[in-house]
Amino acid sequence: MDPKNQIEQLRVELRAHNYSYYVQDNPSVSDFEFDKKLEQLKRLEAAHPEFYDPTSPTIRVGGAVTKTFDTVKHINRMYSLDNSYSREDLQDWEKRLRRTVDGAIEYVCELKYDGASISLHYEKGKFVQAVTRGDGTQGDDVTANVRTIKSVPLQLTGDDVPDKFEIRGEIVLPWDGFHKMNQEREEQGLELYRNPRNTASGSLKLQDSAVVATRPLECLLYQIVGDNLPFNTQHDGLLAARRWGFKVPEQSVLVQGIDGVLEFINYWDIKRKELPYETDGVVIKVNALQNQEELGFTAKAPRWAMAYKFTAEQVSTTLEEITYQVGRTGAITPVANLNPVEISGTTVKRASLHNADQIEKLDVRVGDTVFVEKGGEIIPKIVAVDLTKRPEHSQPTLYATHCPECGTQLVRQSGEAQHYCPNDLGCPPQVKGRIQHFISRKAMDIDGIGSETVDQLVEAGLINDYADLYQLQYEQIIPLDRMAEKSAQNMLAGIEASKQIPFERVLFALGIRYVGETVAKKIARHYKSMEALMEMPDITQQNPAAVDLFHNYDNLAVEQKMQELSALPEIGERIAASIIQFITDDRQRQMVHRLKQAGLQFALTEEEMNSRSDTLAGKAFVISGVFEMSRNDLKKLIEDNGGKVSSSLSSKTDYLVRGENMGPSKLEKAEKLGITMINELEFLQMLG
Ligand code: AMP
Ligand code: ZN
Repeated sequence: MDPKNQIEQLRVELRAHNYSYYVQDNPSVSDFEFDKKLEQLKRLEAAHPEFYDPTSPTIRVGGAVTKTFDTVKHINRMYSLDNSYSREDLQDWEKRLRRTVDGAIEYVCELKYDGASISLHYEKGKFVQAVTRGDGTQGDDVTANVRTIKSVPLQLTGDDVPDKFEIRGEIVLPWDGFHKMNQEREEQGLELYRNPRNTASGSLKLQDSAVVATRPLECLLYQIVGDNLPFNTQHDGLLAARRWGFKVPEQSVLVQGIDGVLEFINYWDIKRKELPYETDGVVIKVNALQNQEELGFTAKAPRWAMAYKFTAEQVSTTLEEITYQVGRTGAITPVANLNPVEISGTTVKRASLHNADQIEKLDVRVGDTVFVEKGGEIIPKIVAVDLTKRPEHSQPTLYATHCPECGTQLVRQSGEAQHYCPNDLGCPPQVKGRIQHFISRKAMDIDGIGSETVDQLVEAGLINDYADLYQLQYEQIIPLDRMAEKSAQNMLAGIEASKQIPFERVLFALGIRYVGETVAKKIARHYKSMEALMEMPDITQQNPAAVDLFHNYDNLAVEQKMQELSALPEIGERIAASIIQFITDDRQRQMVHRLKQAGLQFALTEEEMNSRSDTLAGKAFVISGVFEMSRNDLKKLIEDNGGKVSSSLSSKTDYLVRGENMGPSKLEKAEKLGITMINELEFLQMLG
């Protein structure tokens, strides 16, 4: 078979499998089989860039980086919805509808999915753009990220697909995936995500689409917008969308009158607890599009649709005490200790108060009767105070000033909601947290030490920081409770083996605030060694008179380092500032020094260095023709050195690497665009 057909056939096949798996939740092949075919397609596409297609299933893995998201004006405004809370509200709504609509009214009832609303644009059956709701008039272009969500079809099927249309829906994170993500956060000692909705909308704004690709997001669709649509009702619209390849939730139904609506509401008020994702209500829409048109919109919402909000289960109880919890990162969380009550079948004794602002906003005080709700969050929260029951002489709550664990005065940086205990190297939960993060699977991966062992070691005074691990002796640990000979040996062997862990993971293990796995990787590849990362610009030569000191470093130097770091992709000011704080802290420098002495990897190895650089950062390449090395190797070489490979020439292309037998049309186009052409040898020289 010729490669063109082979590529096309694989794409069709993989698209169908994707559809069965992600849209219909009904896998048609094994993961292994799928991966094999995807690999095969990747290889073929790499060898034949002329058949590039932005809707290919290989695009799903992501890779595009968006530094700032473009603002896009919505073609059709994204309205809000009016809310109703009772049968009466709904009956009033129907009365209003009757002024415009004659006869019995049919409604479509849908669940109100709690995620991030999204508008997807399609042209000639292909996905072209995704825009967030924003303020309803304009939103952010998040196309590169949305492309990686597997239930978003990149290519539609069917002969009645309009040439150009918009479809709206919600990007959601199912509970399952949410819990899995939090499990990983926990292992890494990071603060947990609070609820699926914020995590979903946060994901859409990540700069690196490859990270988005790893998140278990789903896209549920509920409304087609456009002219000359091939259907006349909302319900048929949903069926059409489903036919074309969209994931349209099965729960939507057509009902007659408000009685039908209420039946749906009552059913889902109970059953929603079994759904794989969060819903906070129902959306009711007038079925006939003609009626929708007649009804139109108010300034804020369509007149033909109505949201019905489920009442979150709420109970009242008394607040007995406010205590403060110190997280692994030093973040302080105020906790309401309650007189135990039952909500949704579980006994609740504690509720989160989030932060000082929240306490102030609620004006919640010890002794108050409070309303507690268990909504989309994992931890129940206090939503209001019953002021009628406030005891006389109650005093406003004063937020803690000192750490309950170590007594250090708390700090709160401007712009941050949370208070922190700054005693990162001496506060027990932080000390343990840092060590636990250090040994965790994605960091130093030290087998043979569990989190209980860390507690034991710290409490026995054997270690105070992670560098102390490398001084541990067999004789010291064997007397510990429940420590067998074998486990002591395993522990020491695990510590020894961790000395081979590559620099990028060591950097992650250090636990610099906001430096996650991906960021650590990027920094390691850019700076190549800890020494280079820690080096502050020497400004004494530029400005010998500079005396204004910041942690012993001149402001100008800090500023230059800040710029240097922020210039890297994915590194914002917050991360840069945190890194600078770390590297200008003598205690941390000391710690790094001790780890280095112990033999940990603080630089890329020769091999990593040779295979990786950012010599080609920001450069776009197109490769064409046959080369000495395989096209795949060539491509990998470009990417490993920070360059980008695209398959078609455009004004954005910097270099065309030409091999033997390059097609004449490519040559012509490259000449016309004035693109620099280099051969294989010249390319290798570029890399030095
Ligand atoms: P609100 O933000 O409360 O005004 O409600 C409007 C939002 O509800 C829309 O922007 C959508 O993101 C969301 N929504 C969730 N499910 C649906 C649905 N089935 N139909 C319409 N909107 C929905
Ligand atoms: Zn403390």
